[in-house]
Amino acid sequence: MVRFTVLASGSRGNCTVLSGGRTRILVDAGLSCRELFRRMRLAGEEPTTLNAIVITHEHQDHVNGLAVTARKLGIPVYFTEGTHRAWMRWLQPRRQMSYAQWLEMVRKQAAERQAEPETEAGESDPPDDPNEDSPGEPAVENSVQTTPASSDPAQGSAPNPALDPAPNPALDPAPDPLGERPATLKDDPTWLPAVEYFQAGQPFSIGDVCISPFTIPHDAADPVGFVFSSEGVRLGFATDLGYIPPNVREQLRDLDLLLLESNHDLEMLRDGPYPWPVKQRVLSRVGHLSNDAASEFLAADYDGQAAYVILGHLSENNNLPELARVAAERALLGRASLLANRLLLASQHEPLSAISF
Ligand SMILES: [Zn+2]
Ligand SMILES: [Zn+2]
Repeated sequence: MVRFTVLASGSRGNCTVLSGGRTRILVDAGLSCRELFRRMRLAGEEPTTLNAIVITHEHQDHVNGLAVTARKLGIPVYFTEGTHRAWMRWLQPRRQMSYAQWLEMVRKQAAERQAEPETEAGESDPPDDPNEDSPGEPAVENSVQTTPASSDPAQGSAPNPALDPAPNPALDPAPDPLGERPATLKDDPTWLPAVEYFQAGQPFSIGDVCISPFTIPHDAADPVGFVFSSEGVRLGFATDLGYIPPNVREQLRDLDLLLLESNHDLEMLRDGPYPWPVKQRVLSRVGHLSNDAASEFLAADYDGQAAYVILGHLSENNNLPELARVAAERALLGRASLLANRLLLASQHEPLSAISF
């Protein structure tokens, strides 16, 4: 059975659980770990059965609970390399130090570790950001200190956390003097149990789910949308995009389910409370999709094949669910029925009922 459950959608947090065969994947981890688990259980999903986390891009509303969730479950995180690096830069603000300072830091970390070998990291999610999804700090180069990613898609099957517990760096031997591994979790907020890289345009598999990532126009390092397929069911995932370019139109065909952004009503955004630069950003070709743009796609380019069309990432300040719904209904022009194009709205505050195929 294939199942798709949107746990949260909007600029305060995005998370979706998708299962196919024996594989369960979390798409984005934009809620705090605690809230994410609460919503999963509310939706009848058991968090400990997740096999992997897949990330669309590094904006806070998509990664807010990422590190804590991945560590708690001991599961790998799949990113593009650009997104992973941007996420690390966001968590590790620019730090400049001399060689002597660095050496001193490494010595201190080693001494601390010897003193308290069992110390657990003080894990906490970054604070909620009430703003529209904001990118983190500007680019600064950092070295990647992750588990080497597999380039072989067949290697994608995720470990079962129950059988294969997450490595605990606090129990590992003394740190590599070259500093490849952090001394403790506390020292490195970017530490993850395992990191795997994928590239837009190159399909890969995680267990029983095949994933086709595609580039989307959005102001992040290397943002992607996805088509997930399993057991012959195809699920399209496209939020956080300024417009729908031909490559995205191409991907969003022959789907059984489409999750499409319907972020804002143009008039509400223009007359709304955001400062002008933020309005410009949302409206730009690398911002967010308006109700009109989503409708235009649904009317002109969408093939009408999906059983479900879910509108997502609705702005709480610049949209009303009814405006998004009416615009999409008009665009689907009587193509909606019990069997095709059932229109649903994903919510920021509660999970959408699971959709099964
Ligand atoms: Zn975004
Ligand atoms: Zn977003």
